[in-house]
Amino acid sequence: MTETAAQPGFDYLIVGAGFAGAVLAERLATATGARVLIVDRRPHIGGNAYDRYDDAGILIHPYGPHIFHTNSADVFAYLSRFTEWRPYQHRVLASVDGQQLPIPINLDTVNRLYGLNLTAFELEAFFASVAEPAAQIRTSEDVVVSKVGRDLYNKFFRGYTRKQWGLDPSELDASVTARVPTRTNRDDRYFADTYQAMPLHGYTRMFEAMLAHPNIKVMLNTDYRELQGLLPWRHTIYTGPVDAFFDHCYGRLPYRSLEFVHETHATPQFQPVGTVNYPNDYGYTRISEFKHITGQAHPQTSVVYEYPQAEGDPYYPVPRPENAELYKRYEALTHTRPDVTFVGRLATYRYYNMDQVVAQALATFRRLTAGPEASELAVQPG
Ligand code: FAD
Ligand code: UDP
Repeated sequence: MTETAAQPGFDYLIVGAGFAGAVLAERLATATGARVLIVDRRPHIGGNAYDRYDDAGILIHPYGPHIFHTNSADVFAYLSRFTEWRPYQHRVLASVDGQQLPIPINLDTVNRLYGLNLTAFELEAFFASVAEPAAQIRTSEDVVVSKVGRDLYNKFFRGYTRKQWGLDPSELDASVTARVPTRTNRDDRYFADTYQAMPLHGYTRMFEAMLAHPNIKVMLNTDYRELQGLLPWRHTIYTGPVDAFFDHCYGRLPYRSLEFVHETHATPQFQPVGTVNYPNDYGYTRISEFKHITGQAHPQTSVVYEYPQAEGDPYYPVPRPENAELYKRYEALTHTRPDVTFVGRLATYRYYNMDQVVAQALATFRRLTAGPEASELAVQPG
């Protein structure tokens, strides 16, 4: 980019310092020498994956528990350039009928819930006997009821989903509850991905390493609109909500929000596993205890409760047909703006995990830079 080096301003303005923005800033600066200004209206980098030490000195995730998992060797190798890892396999219990039972539903869940002693083989027959076959799996209700029947659906999924989304599972795409598998063995891990690990020193340290390039300038507490007219840049990469970029001209895209209530307790351990789900009771969906997730040793412990709500910061796109329709209209508008690239969970309205956002950002980088530098990713070891 020597031809632009003499010009004032930046090659790229990146809006949002979460995974989408940080990956693109790092790639563009490191692999192409581009001059990048990355701004975030929050007072920190990392987006929703940001972590920090609380007043007790415990590493917490202010925006809810973030567990890294992926099947992509490329994504894992890429992030491994910026962090070491602590192997961690997340386990979740669901509080149902007075017991704490493994979720995803597995052999132990069914045996303990119903006081049975089934084998894995018998459990398959059990599921077959209670499942309600659906001609077409269309909704989040269909996915579960067609596999495990209505009683398990009611106990583990219906209440949780209604609380989390403010919608009945029958009103949500199948992809939402399909995130949680059903098992006939005793595997009680929440994820089955090849790579499951936490950044050894936390996400924020990893983001700091990604952005530690002399060509990357970071500006916090700044809405990108405040910069318009102040300084020049060539191309914008936008990772915020797509409807906000276009001033909600077609109306608001629904995003689900959460209130996070953090507590510190004067005991080394609060609950037996990283997360306990409460599908049927209380206003919160789940309680997560960070020390399980981070491996930190500390005489006290910090937990977070998640209370779903309609208003507030946008955290989840809401996958259902009418929202996909509305998103399509905004997506069509993005095609009228060749000066802007839209990437990330909110900008592309996709219920993406962190690794999917990293993969999407890496693919976006390859599209933006069709030159020989783009292949650098493939050869550099993790
Ligand atoms: P974000 O992290 O949202 O970053 C976008 C940034 O843009 C934000 O920091 C925002 O402040 C900024 N921004 C927006 N508009 C503007 C503007 N106008 N001006 C300046 N800045 C702006 N994924 C997993 O893989 N594992 C998990 O366990 C997991 N748990 C999760 C738990 C919760 C409660 C939530 C909400 C998400 C979870 N995720 C998890 C998903 C994960 O958070 C996202 O995939 C990822 O953080 C998305 O990155 P992003 O860069 O697209 O968006
Ligand atoms: N879900 C549920 N009961 C559970 C866990 C999940 O009904 O015990 C449903 C619910 O609709 C939830 C979705 O499955 O929103 C996806 O769950 P996941 O744990 O992946 O949600 P996230 O961590 O993204 O909030």
